[in-house]
Amino acid sequence: MKLQFGEETERFRAELLAWLDENRPSDDEMMADPVQSSAHVPPWASRWAKRLFDAGWLMPGLGPELGGRNAGTIEQMVYHEEFAKCPVPRTTNPQGLSIIAPTLLDLGTDAQKRDLAVPIMRGDLGACLGMSEPGAGSDLASFATRAVADGDDFVVSGRKIWTSGAHHADICFCFVRTDASVPKKHQGISVLIIPMDTPGVSCRPLPSLVSEDDADFNEVLFEEARVPKANLIGREGEGWSIATRSLGHERGMLWINYASALDSSIDALLEQVKAGGAIDPTEADELVSLYIDAQAVRCMGYQGVRKLADGKPSPEQSILKLVGSESIRRLNRVGMECLGERALEADLGAPIRGASRVIGGKPLSWAIRYLQSFSGTIAGGTSEIQRNIVAERVLGLPR
Ligand SMILES: Cc1cc2nc3c(=O)[nH]c(=O)nc-3n(C[C@H](O)[C@H](O)[C@H](O)COP(=O)(O)OP(=O)(O)OC[C@H]3O[C@@H](n4cnc5c(N)ncnc54)[C@H](O)[C@@H]3O)c2cc1C
Repeated sequence: MKLQFGEETERFRAELLAWLDENRPSDDEMMADPVQSSAHVPPWASRWAKRLFDAGWLMPGLGPELGGRNAGTIEQMVYHEEFAKCPVPRTTNPQGLSIIAPTLLDLGTDAQKRDLAVPIMRGDLGACLGMSEPGAGSDLASFATRAVADGDDFVVSGRKIWTSGAHHADICFCFVRTDASVPKKHQGISVLIIPMDTPGVSCRPLPSLVSEDDADFNEVLFEEARVPKANLIGREGEGWSIATRSLGHERGMLWINYASALDSSIDALLEQVKAGGAIDPTEADELVSLYIDAQAVRCMGYQGVRKLADGKPSPEQSILKLVGSESIRRLNRVGMECLGERALEADLGAPIRGASRVIGGKPLSWAIRYLQSFSGTIAGGTSEIQRNIVAERVLGLPR
């Protein structure tokens, strides 16, 4: 589906595309130094971040002093649509750029904005997100990592898990319990910036379903790690609202990646199935139904962005996360079924775009992509949790 927006928006799109053509890193530059995890910023990625920042194309919604150009909501959507199609990722530290830096800009002190947020945006500092723990994922507020005040420091003890890119990160945006005496688990939570080289902090990379050697996940241990109180983000005890707010930064435009990946993967699959002979009618039905899902995600996404542009809440976001990530998983399953043993061929995956193109730098088969596609239905809130949210907050059903 190709929509034409107003003249000014289309001029914005054309300017972005022309700039990308002229300034994006070359294939050779990216492939010579592949990204190893989601907080790894190799030298080419750091140069790329600065180029985007200085040209006002990193955070287009912000002012020029923060890597933007005061773009409106619709222009920001167009920006994300074009980056989702671009062979170069906007960032190699997605949690840092999309969740941690915006939260620091909202709530940090001037010194934290200057010394943490801007260096993350300019690719000088890799940041990871320490939320989940072995007993606290969907029920995040149950986490146990504690920070006990001692003079000018907090002493942090506990264990985080599934921390993407922690082994390459310079800092962790870490949720800790600063007051265990409060009656409700959502209270007494704070956020600390913990440098990863603090004595007492260690990482254990964890293998995932698709990668044993080049792991992205980590277990992060904090053994009486001393962290200055000056590293507190926002006020002590307001961590729960920071959690909700920081994840909200990510959600508004996330659907664009799903819609774009669905569109390009459906096209690729169709080509590959046709190359192997005639299409089976059942497979054709599946592909058409996926195409309809992709268009539904896009239309609902546009509707949500319209509401955000008008300053209204957009309850569509949970539906988009649910349908988008589940459709990607279904598409990869259909790909495997359509292609049979050809689905194991490494260079026969769906086209790789953006961050996934450079992370690991390897061509992936449909089979590996199918295994990988489960992660989208878990990260940032599982499908079951999204269904609960849709039931309660969108449909108004009882708990
Ligand atoms: C690719 C990826 C990257 C990630 N990166 C990070 C990161 O950088 N930092 C970080 O902190 N975390 C990260 N995570 C962790 C992620 O946030 C958690 O995996 C997620 O919140 C689910 O928590 P859990 O794994 O503990 O599962 P659990 O919460 O234990 O859930 C287990 C199962 O029970 C279901 N379930 C749980 N509660 C309910 C309920 N109330 N109703 C119905 N069903 C329920 C779930 O849907 C799931 O199927 C990442 C995860 C993935 C997959």
